[in-house]
Amino acid sequence: MPLPLALDAQDATPASPGLSTQPLTILQEVFGYGAFRGQQQAIVDHATAGGDALVLMPTGGGKSLCYQIPAISRHRAGKGVTIVVSPLIALMHDQVGALEEVGVNAAFLNSTHSQEDAQRIERDMMAGRLVMLYAAPERITNLRFQAQLASLHERGLLSLFAIDEAHCVSQWGHDFREDYLQLSMLHERFPDVPRLALTATADDSTRADMIERLKLEDARVFISSFDRPNIRYALVEKDEPRKQLLRFIRDEHDGDAGIVYCQSRKKVEETAAWLTEQGVSALPYHAGLDASVRQKHQDRFLREDGLVMVATIAFGMGIDKPDVRFVAHLDLPKNIESYYQETGRAGRDGGDADAWMTYGLADVVNQRRMIDESPAHDDFKRVQRGKLDALLALAEAHDCRRVRLLGYFGEASAPCGNCDNCLNPPATWDGTEAARKLLSCIYRFWQHGQNRFGAGHLIDVLRGKHTDKVAQYGHDSLSTFGVGSELSDNQWRAVLRQLVSLGHVVAEGEYNTLALTDSARAVLKGGVQLTLREAMESPKRGRVSKAGGKPAAAPADLDGDALSRFADLKAWRAEVAREHNLPAYIVFNDATLADMARVAPQTLGELSAISGVGAKKLQAYGEQILTVLGR
Ligand code: ADP
Ligand code: ZN
Repeated sequence: MPLPLALDAQDATPASPGLSTQPLTILQEVFGYGAFRGQQQAIVDHATAGGDALVLMPTGGGKSLCYQIPAISRHRAGKGVTIVVSPLIALMHDQVGALEEVGVNAAFLNSTHSQEDAQRIERDMMAGRLVMLYAAPERITNLRFQAQLASLHERGLLSLFAIDEAHCVSQWGHDFREDYLQLSMLHERFPDVPRLALTATADDSTRADMIERLKLEDARVFISSFDRPNIRYALVEKDEPRKQLLRFIRDEHDGDAGIVYCQSRKKVEETAAWLTEQGVSALPYHAGLDASVRQKHQDRFLREDGLVMVATIAFGMGIDKPDVRFVAHLDLPKNIESYYQETGRAGRDGGDADAWMTYGLADVVNQRRMIDESPAHDDFKRVQRGKLDALLALAEAHDCRRVRLLGYFGEASAPCGNCDNCLNPPATWDGTEAARKLLSCIYRFWQHGQNRFGAGHLIDVLRGKHTDKVAQYGHDSLSTFGVGSELSDNQWRAVLRQLVSLGHVVAEGEYNTLALTDSARAVLKGGVQLTLREAMESPKRGRVSKAGGKPAAAPADLDGDALSRFADLKAWRAEVAREHNLPAYIVFNDATLADMARVAPQTLGELSAISGVGAKKLQAYGEQILTVLGR
């Protein structure tokens, strides 16, 4: 099949005569996509023309093309190699594999190459034949590499620097920070080489940090909407977290790929083992596992269908698996930035996805304590506390979660209709009286014997239970004994959790004993009205039931023949992916396969019209696909 490469005369360049430098043409021919999304076009035009840019775009927004297309265009125009700085060596293999699949000459440098391969790559780079070279930040500061960059630069073959995950440079994004800080040298050494910094982290402090540290003061800033409309947010009260998780997976995500975040390594291991016992295919991932085990689990997650990864936050950065259908949190994340980044790993392909979290009193207490006890500076702690408060406000919110999330990133929006609170508005009640009873009970403890107690005893006293401890301390003589018999244990826990969230009560020390804060006084005095939310479970998504005969994770609108074509295409794709040692979605993603199954093209021409089928893939796989489709 001849490639559609008829070009304007001005497109032809000495470097790659006959190949277009037009971004849209590259998008269509190389990547097989019909149109740019959102701000991609503006970003690509700006970078292709040699401007510096800072790109803030949510996960799944399509950042890769923002530097890949300028890299290809500029290479075709004879400007040489684009250096892509990316923090995770483990993922470069797949990123480069994806580019090779679409016929772009890309490579990565790391210690896994044989000497021969490494030399070939360096030769390719030094000759300006490579379009993109992926490198970890620590390589940039390597003297030999610096000398190579200088040589390329002298010969006009250093085209562009793309700095992915640029938030790593910020003091709020610790990982890899030292290496990222060195990247400011790129600008000092090669001031005329354009730079494109990209991140999915958008809060003001991180943005300011990136601009300052990477010396991007003159760069154009492109801010995309951070909304991820296909992700449904739900935050449920913790009851029996594991069982809640299992129910959520079974009811809504049977057979789907997902990520479950836990705070501790131990909990990761226990949860993965337990899910496996319950018949869910789950793997653990945390920094305490052997590097080879981590790598193996990550590979399996990327390459196999329907695996659940149970992980600490050590897992996820740079994971570009597009068909992760849910992200669940069994523990409270650090702050809203982390929450949004972690949940953003769901649904990159634009299909329905869930962000689901359970949280309870202990989470609130733990997170507060972790900040208090950290060795950090007071200023830093104050910022962290503020960030935690914002997250807790999100968790306790009665209104649209998305409005609050986007609002946190400075974006105004209307209620979304796709979060738990929108779908099932929570019942609220005036908890002022209950809160005052609870606070005054803590006050009485202190007054009575200068002693402090935990949540269990507090609730026993409020509910008027004659326990041993009540007798021991004579707490049945307190004026608050039994004043709260109208609420259940659970309801009192919810009241307490919300009071801790709001900062009126703190839990301290080894036994989480409770104490009042200054702000409790205003509530006790009656100056503050408290609207509290009642507990509720997450709403169901109401998908086509898997029992209805659909294979797990099939697009909802496929049926009959299309469904069987989809299954055939998936089997064929798995075969190719194995041969190429790449994740299946890099060969073709689910959306592209679903389109093929729907349309059932009979000719190469018809096949080339499917989104995601570029020239190289058409050439490499076209005939095979038509055969699979039974032409
Ligand atoms: P990010 O790095 O911002 O998280 P990616 O670059 O991985 O996002 O893109 C997410 C998905 O969207 C990928 O599968 C990508 O191929 C697809 N995509 C990006 N831009 C387009 C486009 N203009 N048309 C169709 N698909 C696109
Ligand atoms: Zn909503």
